[in-house]
Amino acid sequence: MDAIKTTDKYILKTYNRYPYAFKKGCGAYLFDKGGHKYLDMGAGIAVSSLGHSHPAVVKAIKKQADKLLHTSNLYYSIPQAELAKKLVRSTDFSRVFFCNSGAEANEAALKLARKYGKLIGNENKIKVISMDHSFHGRTMATVTATGQKKYQAPFLPLVPGFEYATYNDIDSVKALIDDDVCAVIMEPLQGEGGVHPATLDFVKGVRELCDKHQALLIFDEVQTGMGRTGTLFCYEQFEGIKPDLMTTAKGIAAGLPMGALFVSESLVDVLQPGDHASTFGGNPLCASAAIAVVDTIRKEKLLANVLKLSNYFMGKLAKLQARYGCIKDIRGKGFLIGIEIDFPASELVSSLLEHNIITVPAGSDVVRFLPPLIITKRDVDFVIDALDQIFNERN
Ligand SMILES: *Cc1c(COP(=O)(O)O)cnc(C)c1O
Repeated sequence: MDAIKTTDKYILKTYNRYPYAFKKGCGAYLFDKGGHKYLDMGAGIAVSSLGHSHPAVVKAIKKQADKLLHTSNLYYSIPQAELAKKLVRSTDFSRVFFCNSGAEANEAALKLARKYGKLIGNENKIKVISMDHSFHGRTMATVTATGQKKYQAPFLPLVPGFEYATYNDIDSVKALIDDDVCAVIMEPLQGEGGVHPATLDFVKGVRELCDKHQALLIFDEVQTGMGRTGTLFCYEQFEGIKPDLMTTAKGIAAGLPMGALFVSESLVDVLQPGDHASTFGGNPLCASAAIAVVDTIRKEKLLANVLKLSNYFMGKLAKLQARYGCIKDIRGKGFLIGIEIDFPASELVSSLLEHNIITVPAGSDVVRFLPPLIITKRDVDFVIDALDQIFNERN
């Protein structure tokens, strides 16, 4: 079967796909039909956190598949309970809610915030502030929260009550916030929007404004969570600042669909039975994979690997930048690194593919490196050599 022709005939054309269909994955590498090997510096958009077919994940999934795939949330689930305990004990939150994607986790956070507004006695406390250039998902509420017109325009009217501030500009938040705001939602490091880290001052300022107006601070860690930035969650890197709600998804179950909302102690009773649900949420198979992810991050000391190799990678990129004027900026944390270039990002992504390296664009002029947390120094050197050759040929 020709996957490309068949896809174009039978699947809605909502994606511009690269003309590759991978057959197999192993560690940080993907293989196509012809057996060509690619270094996966995209990890399926930050999803394959432990690389492909990590033995711990494969073992956990096989074992669970033999036992039980699904029962629904009408009953208790052993893997879900075990995963929740591990996640709560690894963070500063008290409870979790499981779902299947990043957008769904953000929906849960926004619904909780709206209900919280009513519970504290202000029927008008429905406004949500999000940031320009943010990305929170494709459902109606999350595409409304996403501060990028191109994703919203075809689907107007949007969900009412959303306003947009400028990332890293505290005055823009100050100008919008009042007691009718129930939540401020932001990424601690904007991914899709071009790899822009929040400054400590901005996060501190937003936290103070939220406290002053009894608004909840929601951190969208769908992309930055589960070790990607070198700490289990990115909020840990903002000295003493903690969001009230946090969402994660992408890397949590190493390639199986899962999302989670983390809730602070004071908010654990806001959502009551019947308020919110997800048929598949916390499904035993996905939960068993996520348990393997949490355990493996610890066992293989992957956070240390991310921090060490991120520094090394950034250092090497800085050297390239000193040699080649086409690199305008290098940004990011841990293994969420973006390079801004003065030519189309799609061109660099294509050139890297010719060197058997997979990357992901972020907007029109940023290329993102989002490798699995398990890559080695040799993998980084391979990427740097390829970039060196590509930039050299363009000179
Ligand atoms: C990918 C992403 C989402 C959406 O996640 P889906 O699983 O595609 O719904 C939301 N927020 C951020 C920050 C993301 O990177």
